[in-house]
Amino acid sequence: MSLGKSRVIALEEHYWDRDMAVHFDAADARSPKLRERLFDLGELRIREMDEAGIDFQVLSQGAPATHRLAPDVAVPLARSANDKLAAVVKAHPSRFAAFATLPAPDPKAAAEEFDRTVTKLGFKGAMVHGFTLIDGQRVYIDDKRFWPIFERAQALDVPVYLHPATPHPAVIEAYYKEYAADFPNLLSSGWGFTVETATQAIRLVLSGVFTAYPRLKIIVGHLGESLPFSLWRINQALSRAGNKSVPFRDIFCEHFHITTSGNFSNSALLCSVMEMGADRVLFSVDYPFVDNPPGVEWMKTVPLGNEDREKILHGNAERLLKL
Ligand code: MN
Repeated sequence: MSLGKSRVIALEEHYWDRDMAVHFDAADARSPKLRERLFDLGELRIREMDEAGIDFQVLSQGAPATHRLAPDVAVPLARSANDKLAAVVKAHPSRFAAFATLPAPDPKAAAEEFDRTVTKLGFKGAMVHGFTLIDGQRVYIDDKRFWPIFERAQALDVPVYLHPATPHPAVIEAYYKEYAADFPNLLSSGWGFTVETATQAIRLVLSGVFTAYPRLKIIVGHLGESLPFSLWRINQALSRAGNKSVPFRDIFCEHFHITTSGNFSNSALLCSVMEMGADRVLFSVDYPFVDNPPGVEWMKTVPLGNEDREKILHGNAERLLKL
């Protein structure tokens, strides 16, 4: 099967701002091939999109980013990174859109920057990564200090993309350390990211933020970080005696969209569509951590009808992000 003339939109597609990256260089061991692609927002990226058949990328800063920097550094750095990204989108408006980088360590400034990027720069939402460092403490995104970001997301009618980052050091110590040397990706895309991000999504549902902001929209990648597979059980367990009442599965399916980033599995896709509906699943690659062609080739073979596949490839993104 071919994709014919289907527009293909991918929305968990990363780059690195050079001024941001210098703050993390010492800790970063990523390969030269990966670094070249993270820093490229022009010829190489567009060529690899064309070769794979991807029409449009929604660009986002990869982790680590401003969530781990002091507020006095994070605020001006996010602003300059967003301005530079806006210039890239302006140079290639038919190929790129953008998610904002937020200086989350200063939540009120983050809400202001979110507003500026959407209303002045035309950004389509914002991306947050894992925990945020505030006064040396690792704080998860459901914390009430971050709710000004969600308040603004609802007011602007744009989504927040909940993206993975390195797990909490205590989790690494307890869960992974014995296997980290032989299997370093266990801490990240192999399993650590999934647990970390799914846990944050669960915490967000339990926090009551969706009662406070009933039109808030959240995106999670990697086919929902395994949550569609677990929704029924989470919901059933939380409805047992002794738990505060929460319609977990309904809240998740009403407020979350998921993308296929880095998880090109037919069985995971079908489970996700059965739980959430085809209107809630959006194509993504996770470039350049994942190559474009396997994602597009996979979409040609997914066991779904053409109408649902079109929604996943572009229709849902066009509606959610107003592209
Ligand atoms: Mn990613």
